[in-house]
Amino acid sequence: MLSTKKYYTLIFAYFIGFVGVTLYNGTNTLDNTTYAISDGISSKRAKAEPVSGIPVLAYHQIVSDTWAAQKNNFYTLDVGTFRSQMEWLTKEGYTTIKLDTLYAYVTGKKTELPEKPIVITFDDGTKGFTRHASEILEKHKFTAVLFIFPNATGKDRNYLNWEDLKKALNKGHEIETHSFTHPLLTKMSLKTQTAEFTKAKKLAQEKLGVNVKWMAYPFGTFNKHTTQALKDSGYTGAFTVYVGDNQRGQNPFFLNRYLVLHGQTLETFAAKIRQKSLPVKPALEPGSFVTEDSEIVFEIPKGLIKENIRVEVGKEFIRRNKNTNFSYEEKSGKLTVKVKNIYGTYVNVTIVVSGKNSETRRSTILYIGKRVWKQLK
Ligand SMILES: [Zn+2]
Repeated sequence: MLSTKKYYTLIFAYFIGFVGVTLYNGTNTLDNTTYAISDGISSKRAKAEPVSGIPVLAYHQIVSDTWAAQKNNFYTLDVGTFRSQMEWLTKEGYTTIKLDTLYAYVTGKKTELPEKPIVITFDDGTKGFTRHASEILEKHKFTAVLFIFPNATGKDRNYLNWEDLKKALNKGHEIETHSFTHPLLTKMSLKTQTAEFTKAKKLAQEKLGVNVKWMAYPFGTFNKHTTQALKDSGYTGAFTVYVGDNQRGQNPFFLNRYLVLHGQTLETFAAKIRQKSLPVKPALEPGSFVTEDSEIVFEIPKGLIKENIRVEVGKEFIRRNKNTNFSYEEKSGKLTVKVKNIYGTYVNVTIVVSGKNSETRRSTILYIGKRVWKQLK
């Protein structure tokens, strides 16, 4: 299991999901015109292709109802809740798809998609998958993706072993990695990250005979070297834990996932799955170092009303400045944000756009604050 220190590090990842749920309550929505713009596709094409984004779910440990009643941990979900979530997905007509299909979609390639595609993932490779989740998934004809960190594989009775993983593969599930040792990547160099990712990929491939191409960021964080390290290690893309679906044109190294955590209602679960992300192109690569008073430029959809845009800069995920100053050029879609009051390690810039009719769209981009930079030097 994870150490206490790691546990506290995990807690902040929770707040991304939590914040994501609370923020769009009570706000209005984007109108249809904006919708088409933000999808990056014409209205004509939108009709021909009804899928307007693919949600990805991120689970951790699934535990028995009795265990869950005794212990309260964000990352352990009772099997009863998991079962009702899978029933809801079936009732709503969702079909799980493979990562290759998701990749084809986000990179704009032609691909066959079900009417309501979804990806279900599990981080850490814990035994709850075979003890509880596998049977329920099978019943609903769902397949999942397991992100394992091979350093823990088969380590003790809490983690799946290679035999368990082979069985999961035979049932149609996919096995990808979560790095080798589950470290905090924000503090690591290009060289050490490349070694981590290569080792994880190599071992999983040797043991399972599969081609490992994807990673889920441990603790949901990364730094400016991470994308390069993943490319150098032969990965195709990676997953964060930021709220929002995945749309055409999205960077495959920063795919969104909805964290499914203990204590969320079915309504929250449904709202998260339906939450669309705002297409954002940051001029500064996510995971880069930012200083106090630095300006970060983003390209967001053109023609939005400035009053409907809100920018929040997070300090360690919890203390957020909801009234961050920014400028927006309607003609070009250029959004400039001034970063203020960096006290912590992580700087999360969340851009929220609300429209009149249907829904609010949001996107979060992670940067690294001053403190970690000093350690890297
Ligand atoms: Zn993890």
